[in-house]
Amino acid sequence: MATGIEAAGLVLGSIPLILAGLQFYAEGIAVTKRYWKYKEEVNNILYELRAENTMYVNSINMLLVGVVSQKDMTEFLADPGGGRWTEAKFDRKLRSRLGASYDSYMESITHMIMTADKFKEKLKLDGAGKPQFSEQTSFKEHYRRLKFSLRKSDYSDLMGKLRQANQSLYRLTTQTAYLDARQTSSKQDCQSAPNFRVIKDRADNFYTALSTGWNCPCQADHSVSLRLESRMEDGSGDEDDEDYEDEETMRDPFHVLFRFNHHHKTEISSTSMKPWTWEEADVRIEYEKQSSTATAACGGQIGKGVRFAKQAKKAIQAALEPQPNMQPIKDLCSAIYALQKPQRDVCFSLLANEIAKHKYGVHIYPTKQLPPDTDTWVVSSLRNVLDDSQFARRDRLKLAVTLASSVLQLHETPWLDENWGKDTIFFVKRPGRALYDQPFVSQNFNQTTPTPKTETPNAMSRIIRNQTLYALGVALIELWYGKTLAELHKDADGPHDTGIMQVDFMAEYNTADRLVDELYSEAGGKYSDAVRRCIRCDFDRRASSLEDAQFQKAVYQGVVAQLKENYEYMFQHHPD
Ligand SMILES: [Zn+2]
Repeated sequence: MATGIEAAGLVLGSIPLILAGLQFYAEGIAVTKRYWKYKEEVNNILYELRAENTMYVNSINMLLVGVVSQKDMTEFLADPGGGRWTEAKFDRKLRSRLGASYDSYMESITHMIMTADKFKEKLKLDGAGKPQFSEQTSFKEHYRRLKFSLRKSDYSDLMGKLRQANQSLYRLTTQTAYLDARQTSSKQDCQSAPNFRVIKDRADNFYTALSTGWNCPCQADHSVSLRLESRMEDGSGDEDDEDYEDEETMRDPFHVLFRFNHHHKTEISSTSMKPWTWEEADVRIEYEKQSSTATAACGGQIGKGVRFAKQAKKAIQAALEPQPNMQPIKDLCSAIYALQKPQRDVCFSLLANEIAKHKYGVHIYPTKQLPPDTDTWVVSSLRNVLDDSQFARRDRLKLAVTLASSVLQLHETPWLDENWGKDTIFFVKRPGRALYDQPFVSQNFNQTTPTPKTETPNAMSRIIRNQTLYALGVALIELWYGKTLAELHKDADGPHDTGIMQVDFMAEYNTADRLVDELYSEAGGKYSDAVRRCIRCDFDRRASSLEDAQFQKAVYQGVVAQLKENYEYMFQHHPD
């Protein structure tokens, strides 16, 4: 009977053999042409099994942390089932790590071994797990002789069992990691996360207002670029004072650039006459304040008095502030057109009539001065500037913090698609302004052709548990190396650029996953830890949605705060 560690190694060794066997058959089919009808089926089995294997390797990786030292890990994973896996001390450590869960662990692993064996049997692989013939050209004869099945449906039962065992193994591993983390890092708990939900709500409402705010007849693309901010200087307000905290967190407004995009236009007379090009503004999303009399009238709750006093204080503050020259508008395009003059002390109130319905108002404060030389402004995507030598490491690492924080502010809003990345983050080159400290995300309105969206293939979403965070991990890797993931690809990562989305996604994942380990020797522990957590969704939590408050907190502490500390450590002067 194999020990727990040995058993893990056996599975780790046998799935790649099955994969190799399947690959061999797939190539045989391609050569023979006789059985082309099975091509798709075999490729699908291959693809699903690869995904299960990756998931399994991740689980074992997580499980071995603390059992095998980081320096032994590479050697371990390179030789699954090899001599080192039988050393008794590792199994002792694993037992003490898993505690009462050791038995369920053994059960899952045993299931996986059995399933892998059945897989080999069904594919008629030999005792060593290899195909029983070696010439692809004679595939037809051997296929008839050995009578193995190439139908996907014949393997779905086994695949289901493998998936189930893999899933329970994963749960077990994350729970164990979670318990470990609880014991070792209780000090992190006192570092609470800013209230990003407030910003997310406002960003959502802003988008909704914008989508109804372009009623102009110009039929040109209009875009709104939202500047990304780290919004971490505010600290967290008093827990028991939510109103106060809300205002504090949103102390800084959204900063946006409006653009009248002429480039997509065909030869229409208005190309010579540009109504406007760029406009710059601050945007505040104001929620309708409950009138204090109404609150007082329906009273009866504890703490009302305190709340009332607070609201009264706010009302006085508001009354003392200078009233902006508020102009209700319905159509942003013509309002911005009317702004193209030097004197413009004005505030637009978008959808003023709808406030009653939506309970919020969008107040747009254009910059006091007309933005200069807007004709010369140039937009570059992050992809375009990745290898720019002017884009210094300091700017890159600062951007890393801003992007990580922005994920928590804008996830699941139209501003940040879950497949966001180097093609959706922009910089706007403006004369006399630093370029790289102001990243933007952009949305088109009034557009005639919809923007195509990338979707993650189904089986990949089993490995990538949170696409938005995975995208952040990829961006962090690319920012560090100044290269795209495709440029960092190595042959060992599997075929890429094939045009088959599943295959390309897998190769990309393999590159990212490999670089997670390589990054440690280059970028240091904090940065690399943050990247590892994003790529492998390694947060010691069962939840994997940023909507889950505890998960979001774990991401804040494990990624955003780490990146910020790393940046401050490297670039900010410490008095002591
Ligand atoms: Zn327009």
